[in-house]
Amino acid sequence: MPQIINGKEISAQIKEELKEKVAAMKEEGISVCLAVIQVGDDPASSVYVGNKKKACAYIGITSLSYELPEETTQEELLKLIEELNKREDVNGILVQLPVPEHIDEDAVIRAIAPEKDVDGFHPQSVGALCIGQKGFVSCTPAGIIQLLKRSGIEIAGKECVIIGRSNIVGKPMALLLLRENGTVTVTHSRTKNLKEVTKRADILVAAVGKPRMITREYVKEGAVVIDVGIHRNENNKLCGDVDYDDVAPVCSAITPVPGGVGPMTIAMLMNNCVESAALRQ
Ligand code: NAD
Repeated sequence: MPQIINGKEISAQIKEELKEKVAAMKEEGISVCLAVIQVGDDPASSVYVGNKKKACAYIGITSLSYELPEETTQEELLKLIEELNKREDVNGILVQLPVPEHIDEDAVIRAIAPEKDVDGFHPQSVGALCIGQKGFVSCTPAGIIQLLKRSGIEIAGKECVIIGRSNIVGKPMALLLLRENGTVTVTHSRTKNLKEVTKRADILVAAVGKPRMITREYVKEGAVVIDVGIHRNENNKLCGDVDYDDVAPVCSAITPVPGGVGPMTIAMLMNNCVESAALRQ
């Protein structure tokens, strides 16, 4: 049977490390504060925001909560971000996406000061990642690197194939694996002979957004399989982009859903907040 990469355990470990770090920082008079903005009351967003606030409380990070009504204008939102950019006591600013349609998401992302961009979505953060400079990295792909490293999986020299090229997962994942000296291929909806390409992978990252699409026909024997997808199946149970039962017997390591990549995203967000506060000093 494959090694099950336990994201629940690894994320808990990271949170413990951060808790200790935050306590030590407090003794030196440095506090960490994240501002979380939600526009509207989309139930899924409310769950994500709630989980982020809970993680802050556990680690010892102060969270400021801004729950704005659906009809908030773009100008009002940008003004709030501008105020938070200027506040000395705020280290991180997060706007829960998606924002309502009348607000330009790109304008919101660009408004956040790069030194407080703990989601790592600002063009400056993405550019810095691209040319190997310091900056915040998108939390889900950063979490996947931690999963691999902390599970003793070597990246350097490996064939890494990513399915999906989104700005928040696929593209930053490619850049991070490249930074770790992997040989990286990015596939997408226009890729020809997808199975042939994915079968080359020593490390396969599925971020395709299609429930259980990746069966063993896509996977080389002994590969490491990272499943980013989150879906509800016909029985309302969580499942990923990978058909776990079909793929697990042929791979060397795999992330389950739930309990794989999912818990890492918040852990890395907390990590970025702590880093932001430490860098400020
Ligand atoms: P997205 O929809 O923005 O991107 C999907 C990508 O898959 C696109 O680049 C597209 O070209 C590619 N694609 C679609 N169909 C394809 C096909 N048939 N063959 C090859 N490529 C194809 O999705 P995303 O935001 O990158 O998210 C991907 C999945 O990860 C979703 O299920 C999402 O819910 C999940 N997700 C999880 C976390 C987490 O914390 N675990 C975070 C972000 C996203």
